Formats: sequence, C-alpha cells, structure tokens
Amino acid sequence: MVASSVVITGAASGIGRACVELFAARGFGVVAVDLDEAGLSALIGRPASEQVVPLVGDVSREETGTAMAQLALDRFGRLDVAVLNAGIGGTLPWEDADAIDRLDRILAVNVRGVAIGIRSVVPAMRAGGGGAIVVTASSAGLQGEPGNWAYNASKAAVINMVRAAALDHAAQRIRINAVAPGLSETPLTARHRTEPESTAAVGRRIPMQRWGQAREHAAAIWFLASPEASYITGTTLVADGGLTAHHGAAP
Ligand code: NAD
Repeated sequence: MVASSVVITGAASGIGRACVELFAARGFGVVAVDLDEAGLSALIGRPASEQVVPLVGDVSREETGTAMAQLALDRFGRLDVAVLNAGIGGTLPWEDADAIDRLDRILAVNVRGVAIGIRSVVPAMRAGGGGAIVVTASSAGLQGEPGNWAYNASKAAVINMVRAAALDHAAQRIRINAVAPGLSETPLTARHRTEPESTAAVGRRIPMQRWGQAREHAAAIWFLASPEASYITGTTLVADGGLTAHHGAAP
C-alpha cells in the first residue's frame, strides 16, 4: 500500500505526464486521467507498476470526476492530492462561424472540468483529514493575448475559482492553489513553436530567453502539493521565466 495518492488529469502528455513521473518517483500512487487512451497506455508502460493506474475519461463530464476519486480510494485506500491539469487552447478568430461553440468547449474543459474535479475529490480528502489541490492555470489568465480571448477568459476564471474554492475548503484542511505556466515546450504548443514570429517573441517577451520545460512546471505543482507549502492556499504561483513580470516594450 502506498503512503499517499494523487489524481492527475491531462496525464498522457506534457505537464500532466511530467507530473505523473514526478509523483510516481516520489512514491505516490497515481490515478492518471486522460481522454487519450493510446497516450495513457504508452505512459503506463514507463513506470511499469501497479503504482500508476489509468482512467480514460473526459474531465468535463461528472462521471469522470466521480470515477477518478473512487479509483484512488479503491486502489490506494486514500486520496491526498489532485492535480487538475487537463486543458485545451488555441487561438480563435472572433469572426469564425463556430467561435461560440469552440468557446463553449474551451470553457467546458478548462473551467467546468476544474469545478467538477474539485467537487469530486473534496469528499475523499475531507474523509482523510485534508489534502491539496493544484490547478494548472496559465500566464494567459493574467494578461490578454491577441486572438486568445477564449483561452484567456478560461484561465482567468480558474485563477479566481481557486481563490474562492480555497476559502470554502480551508477549514477542512484542503489547500487549493494554481500554477500559471508561461510558454511550455509541450505538444499543446508544438505548432506555435514552429512559427518564426514565435521564436522572435520568446526573445522579446521572456526575460529568461527560452521556453519552459514540462518538468519545471511539474516541479512548481509538486511544491504546492507538498507539505513544504503547508501555509499556502488560494494563490497562483507563476512559473513563466519572467514573462508576466516584463513591462511589455521591446528590450
Ligand atoms: P498537452 O496538450 O501536452 O496535454 C494536455 C493533455 O490533456 C492531453 O493529454 C489531452 O489529451 C488531455 N485532455 C484534453 N482535454 C481533455 C479532457 N476533456 N479530458 C481529459 N483529458 C483531456 O498540454 P500541456 O501543455 O501539457 O498543458 C497542460 C495544462 O497546462 C493545460 O491546462 C494548459 O492550458 C496549461 N498550460 C500550458 C502551457 C504551455 O505553454 N504548454 C502554458 C500555460 C498553461
């Protein structure tokens, strides 16, 4: 039996995958949740053990939330941490005919999915005497970006949802925080990274002059989930190489 367990959503790729590797290496039992069944299978082959349990599901559906919390209890007997990381993005021209449908989907995954995640894991954490929830927000929730209004809105929403949820659950010893990555080198940003203007923008906008790595964002998530962060709740830890600290003008 493991000493602690974690549910991680968006576990098959990028930051979620780096979280699975980090938490598993530190002895956690992991419920790895993703829509991508093939990606989950590839992942489970790596820390090949009963320590990482896959769950194929869509975080915007309540049954996925119920199933992931129950699976943690069934397999590991407890639930200590939830990393609510699944998210989708993509720029969205205002004039696109399906813009509002795509807004609905972005909000369903990035906002509704987080609300479902929080509601689903709280009862098991409360029964166990407390826990920690970390939501993957984004620097895009702290500033506007051209063409990114739907994603910007969704990530701003979860940053403030985390504040309010932290108030509601503090007395139950459940800490709730967010991490706001800047630009991270993951499949989500693969297409963006090949655009020449994006390389130029990294040099112009990011003081550290490089993309972040998924493991660097997983490390920030790990910190907020760990006992080292025992007096931190309702906050957003920005991990963006200085992107949002920058004054915006060309250096
Ligand atoms: P990614 O695309 O590499 O991984 C996201 C994973 O989430 C995928 O495996 C995907 O299948 C899964 N997923 C998507 N929708 C889902 C759903 N409805 N239910 C279950 N799983 C679903 O992306 P990433 O870059 O690792 O992003 C992870 C999180 O970090 C997201 O919330 C994203 O918004 C945020 N983020 C990423 C960056 C970046 O630059 N990559 C920057 C800031 C914030």
